[in-house]
Amino acid sequence: MTQNYDLPNFPLFNNLIQYATNTEQIAIDDSRIGRSFTYKELITAVIKLRHELLNGKSSLKEQRVLILCPSGFPYVVALLAVWAAGGIAVPLCTTHPLPEQIYTMQDSQSSLIVGHPLFGERISQLTSEITISVLIKDDSSFLNMLGGDDLLQQTQIMNDPVSFDAGNLIIYTSGTTGKPKGALSTHAITDARISVLVNAWYWTANDRIHHTLPLHHIHGIINALLCPLYIGATVEMFEKFDAAQVWGRWAANIDDNKQERPAMTVFMSVPTVYSKLIQHYKKQDVERQAQLTRSCKQFRLMVSGSASLPTTLRNQWRKISGGQVLLERYGMTEIGMALSQEYMISERVEGTVGFPLPGVQVRLISQETNQDVTEDRNEPGILQIKGCNIFKKYWEKPEATKKEFTEDGWFITGDVAQRLGCRGYYQIMGRKSVDIIKTGGEKVSALEVERELLSCDLGIQDVAVVGIPDPEWGQKVAAVVVMEDNKVSDV
Ligand code: AMP
Repeated sequence: MTQNYDLPNFPLFNNLIQYATNTEQIAIDDSRIGRSFTYKELITAVIKLRHELLNGKSSLKEQRVLILCPSGFPYVVALLAVWAAGGIAVPLCTTHPLPEQIYTMQDSQSSLIVGHPLFGERISQLTSEITISVLIKDDSSFLNMLGGDDLLQQTQIMNDPVSFDAGNLIIYTSGTTGKPKGALSTHAITDARISVLVNAWYWTANDRIHHTLPLHHIHGIINALLCPLYIGATVEMFEKFDAAQVWGRWAANIDDNKQERPAMTVFMSVPTVYSKLIQHYKKQDVERQAQLTRSCKQFRLMVSGSASLPTTLRNQWRKISGGQVLLERYGMTEIGMALSQEYMISERVEGTVGFPLPGVQVRLISQETNQDVTEDRNEPGILQIKGCNIFKKYWEKPEATKKEFTEDGWFITGDVAQRLGCRGYYQIMGRKSVDIIKTGGEKVSALEVERELLSCDLGIQDVAVVGIPDPEWGQKVAAVVVMEDNKVSDV
């Protein structure tokens, strides 16, 4: 019979128990609470919250549970406890307007909110819209869950009642083409997504990641949170990104030559964040800039993804960080990560996203001929993906799910890509629906034009290239630009 304090027999929980039992390692360093939490404290809190969620039942049986907790220990405990109890976690974007959150709550048919008083007012608004149970946990409730060595001894890993193939997570797509859809994954899919990255990016227990990413998105959940926890590393969590705070934290262990804070080893973000970090850096005096540059030495890996990384940005970052070459990867809510540059710096070719990760099958299908052009060079095609990283379905949307797969089971990403050079590095050219502009019969990649504009010395800080309907050309290529301070554009 299942004991109250048992955990499911998945690699993630096996690993967490092992780190909790054999090490004093820090799992989460929560900057908001101002406290670090060991693996032992983390797993103890997870076991206790799981027990409370189950409330006498043996499993939540894939019941959907909304999570509205701040980034840090409360969020991590809530997520893992829902999984350990056999529920499906639906992390809400904490900054979304009320109607979006109501949509997520209703579409996912969630029956419980695990929330934090920081979002108390919002939770009241949500519960006035629909009948749903609420479990509010403040920081002291979480701090009260940490004790109990015997609890860990009593805990066993059990095969039942949560199946590895049960649903565990719904992440809502950004909804560029219609209403957001809830992409459902399972414990097995999540495990495949995590384990492949742990190996590809050489995660070890010695790593400490600076986590500022949103936790309702694949990047923040899988790449930056679960990979380090899976391997016994430390996640230092901040509620949100703030350029001055990030630089300040990095410089904390070189300022005045005092080792004030443990060194970071990994940082992951999106191109906009690197751009903001550069802007902040440029506003500092020369002495401070030198300090900030030195502070980047602590990192073994800096990753960029979720959008195209312009070459100028990549080069600027390399310069101001004293030589950090950003590793670019390509992924999506529905597929986790699919393509990644190699870990070896010389193989991180600019403007490309490397190769398929192990276990991920990738092919390019020409839009004109419908032929497989994967082995051709400089021949664009729609990127299609197969593998154990692919989501299970869109929640309650069988038609939409069917539409995204070919008859032989490939997921159609909607992104256009081509392969370059003799090794065939993959290059993302943009979304078929918006980034491929048809002008005078030619197909033009908006991302490529953006890259070129940013590479020229025109003083452009940021740019978005779009196709504008035109009777003569079909579409004309247009650019909306943000100029660097005080510069006037004659582009
Ligand atoms: P999301 O599901 O919100 O993570 O968005 C996924 C989309 O972001 C993909 O379909 C691509 O269009 C885009 N994307 C992700 N990574 C990259 C990248 N490295 N370069 C260009 N576009 C990317």
